[in-house]
Amino acid sequence: MPIGKAAIFVEPYRFEITDLPTREVEPGAVLVNVTSAGVCGSDLHYWRGEMKPKITGRPGPVILGHEMTGVVHTLGSGVSTDSMGRPLSEGDRVVFTYFFPCGRCYVCLRGELNHCPHRFRFRASVEEDPYCSGGFAEYYYLHPGHYVFRVPDELPDEAVTAANCAVSQVIYGLQIGGARMGDSVVIQGAGGLGLYATAAARDMGAARVITIDGIAPRLDMARRCGADHVIDINEYATPEARIERVKELTGGWGADVCLEVVGYPQVVAEGLQMLRPGGALVEIGNIWENSNVTLDLSKVIWGQTRIIPAAHYHPQALPAALDFLVRTRDRYPLTSVMSHSYPLERIGEAFEQSEWLGKSEDTAITRAFVAP
Ligand SMILES: [Zn+2]
Ligand SMILES: [Zn+2]
Repeated sequence: MPIGKAAIFVEPYRFEITDLPTREVEPGAVLVNVTSAGVCGSDLHYWRGEMKPKITGRPGPVILGHEMTGVVHTLGSGVSTDSMGRPLSEGDRVVFTYFFPCGRCYVCLRGELNHCPHRFRFRASVEEDPYCSGGFAEYYYLHPGHYVFRVPDELPDEAVTAANCAVSQVIYGLQIGGARMGDSVVIQGAGGLGLYATAAARDMGAARVITIDGIAPRLDMARRCGADHVIDINEYATPEARIERVKELTGGWGADVCLEVVGYPQVVAEGLQMLRPGGALVEIGNIWENSNVTLDLSKVIWGQTRIIPAAHYHPQALPAALDFLVRTRDRYPLTSVMSHSYPLERIGEAFEQSEWLGKSEDTAITRAFVAP
């Protein structure tokens, strides 16, 4: 079995590059050679020590990284197609879900695959089989039955690196938020997720896409990604002013769907008030513990608004994301969301760059990636 380089997350702000074994490829499994892995907002939380990666088995150091793409290195016996039934061979480019619903529990039985409590059962420390269970490594092991999809030739690696996290996440979020043709959709935040969401809402037939942020180049990118209107929080400096602006842009009614991808709890209360009666706020950004907020529930009840949380997605969202990226590749500059590439040895710089990009006032680019 091949041995591959891996960036082990030893402690906050510190990685160690080591060689790790891969495991014997069982029948039905796939060993992937990772070609690109993005630094997602959640990776930054782990890196800063704000969250601990959840793993199964014994505690120990892990490999971070979950948004990634790669090439099939070894196909286990019996695997001849991807999860859409298309022929799959060694050397093919692939994307895959970074979680794996068990298909053998009460929740999976109900078809709610992304709610499966066992979906991270194979994310282990580097001391345990399958050793390579994170994106910042040369190899990644897909257990038998794992969802895997061939990447269309039209898309370069940079375009598909975020497909299995950011892009699928926002597409699924809009789907469960009930976004339909003719809707008004508000996107709170124009970082990586917000830009993908803006373009996805547009592509799903929204009549009006309104994107909110405070950084000028990001707002500009949002416009180029299909936003009809942007709201600059420097100009509309209070929640009241922003709510008023959304009402104004929606004929006084408010948005049908609001997608929260800022990651500040207080914007949830604001987003709820931007909705029409019966509208839905899809909550994606506030993923770490103690994301507390005070809500006036009487407004929720009388407005009959809904908060719909979206953590991960149904696997069908991933091929939909690939299809979306192909169809819109000449329309929106989504490929440029992934802008800064680093070799694995310089992963620390990739994280520092991402941290800086997230705070910077003068750039629209929000994602760095590592090419192991
Ligand atoms: Zn992610
Ligand atoms: Zn399950």
